[in-house]
Amino acid sequence: MVEDNLRRIYKELPPEVKLVAVSKFHPCEDILEAYRAGQRRFGENRPQEFAAKAVQLPEDIEWHFIGHLQTNKLKMVLPYASLVESIDSRHLLDAVEKWGSEHGKVIDVLLELHLGAEETKGGFTEAEIEEILTPVPELAEGAEGPYPHIRFRGLMGMATNTDDEAAVEADFVRIEAFKKHLDDRFALPDFTELSIGMSHDWPLAVRHGATIVRIGTAIFGPRIYR
Ligand SMILES: *Cc1c(COP(=O)(O)O)cnc(C)c1O
Repeated sequence: MVEDNLRRIYKELPPEVKLVAVSKFHPCEDILEAYRAGQRRFGENRPQEFAAKAVQLPEDIEWHFIGHLQTNKLKMVLPYASLVESIDSRHLLDAVEKWGSEHGKVIDVLLELHLGAEETKGGFTEAEIEEILTPVPELAEGAEGPYPHIRFRGLMGMATNTDDEAAVEADFVRIEAFKKHLDDRFALPDFTELSIGMSHDWPLAVRHGATIVRIGTAIFGPRIYR
């Protein structure tokens, strides 16, 4: 079933768009089923579950962390994550920089843009992201910026959770336009990714420039919350 679901999605997905199979709440056997079908990129949103799976599953899995990350849980996530998609505060960004500096590692991250009507959802405003990416003007030639251990790879967003396709599309239009604005303004060579689109809205996300889609339910079926 997992294999059929993957095959169906890959048939529709443009080859340049990366699929993150969101395996949260699903057991390792399900991940291995997808792995045997050729899937190598997986996403998890809870640090403990993420670390437990990362240590016992094959080493060539590319793990994305996609959930809210508390600064006291970095050690469960940063050793294993190829990409932390969900940087949603300055506090977290500073803590990841500190961890990277202490461990001599550069961490690839996406900045999460707050989209959607839900007040509870995390993420930065456009202005905050712009400020983070703005080079420090008085920096001497060759000097380090504030985040030498972080590589900014792009933006992540979660559209409004609604069946109203127009509302979802409005969110995608907004983040797509902001990505383009940042590209025009800063022309950062590594800032290439736009992670939008989930099980119910990924085709629309692809039409709005997604380079990464994060799909759980449509691959693994409904999650059983315990
Ligand atoms: C769970 C989750 C997904 C996948 O959601 P589905 O609707 O199951 O595809 C994508 N992104 C994030 C951030 C998630 O937490």
